[in-house]
Amino acid sequence: MAKRQEQEPAREAVREVAPDVLRMELPIRLPGLGHVNCYAILDQEGAAVVDPGLPGSATWKVIVQRLGQAGLQPKDVHSVIVTHSHPDHFGGANRFAREVGARIIGHHRFQFGPFSSFQEPEVSVDDLAAHHVHAHGLPEEESETLAPAIEEAIEEAETILRRARAQGRTPWGGSMMSASFWRRMRFRVAHALGRSFIPTISMPVEHGDVLTLADREWFVIHTPGHTGDHICLHDPESGVLLAGDHVLPTITPHIGGIGSSPDPLASFFYSLDRVAEIQDVGQVLPAHGHPFEDLAGRAGAIKRHHEERLGKVRSISAELGVPANVQAFSQRLFKPRSWGAMAESETYAHLEHLRMKGDAERSEAPDGQFLYVAG
Ligand SMILES: [Zn+2]
Ligand SMILES: [Zn+2]
Repeated sequence: MAKRQEQEPAREAVREVAPDVLRMELPIRLPGLGHVNCYAILDQEGAAVVDPGLPGSATWKVIVQRLGQAGLQPKDVHSVIVTHSHPDHFGGANRFAREVGARIIGHHRFQFGPFSSFQEPEVSVDDLAAHHVHAHGLPEEESETLAPAIEEAIEEAETILRRARAQGRTPWGGSMMSASFWRRMRFRVAHALGRSFIPTISMPVEHGDVLTLADREWFVIHTPGHTGDHICLHDPESGVLLAGDHVLPTITPHIGGIGSSPDPLASFFYSLDRVAEIQDVGQVLPAHGHPFEDLAGRAGAIKRHHEERLGKVRSISAELGVPANVQAFSQRLFKPRSWGAMAESETYAHLEHLRMKGDAERSEAPDGQFLYVAG
């Protein structure tokens, strides 16, 4: 399969993609992705930056270099906007706050969690399976300063998840985990990673808030789904939507079953409809991949992908003929190379969505596992 645009390595060139909006591509090292777009929105006071890449000194150097190409320095950055709580989007935020006093803008429910941030991938399991993992031009130093901390955290999260599963306590393996369990998990992962790069949102926003950037008014649109705290920004004057990971040009973002709401897929559909309705968007600026124009078309295509997946879940249930657990569904939905917790999490999201709609029934096996029949 040809490399998709979200996988392309970060290019050095800084381009103006909308009036006073610059696209700066930053290298990242994540499965299924080759770069993250950091946008600089210019005004008389300097710039606001959107999604300043992964944590770590290597990314910071690239940010400083890209800003320099635009005649800017870090001290010109007065605001950092974080579209959602994934580390390739919030990495440089704290450093801007610490070094130049920039305010950090994000959704008021911004929450860094082990499963929404590290345990789960950025892109759907299908899209992960379709690609090899590449590392694109990220200087070695990044892996030295960042990777061990992340790996350690993932390892710890996985150990805890495994233990919980063994005790029948995952959402799909038994009773729901308690709130205190999740609090404990978040604390442990945050501790393993070091608090220093998890941003504190100094200017929390919510749906309908208006930000003045580049002397224009940008509307905050809350778009839960990929994460519960995802926001997009819409500028009606120039017809621009800053889309984060909500609507990517060719890749489907990962929608897991745990975390953001009882039915993350329903939230995602609702959020897709919400942006598709916006009139006169001429330019969508995604966090990965190139700017594109047809917002409603792309949102519709992503929705159709999930509708097809839901249809497949229904036919698997008919084939199975008996109530089956998440793993059984998952192993029929995905090829063996994709089997595992990520695939199960996506499957769980789809089964729970059908259940909430009244199209699936859930029962509990004697060992506490959830069993589903989807009609
Ligand atoms: Zn993301
Ligand atoms: Zn992303």
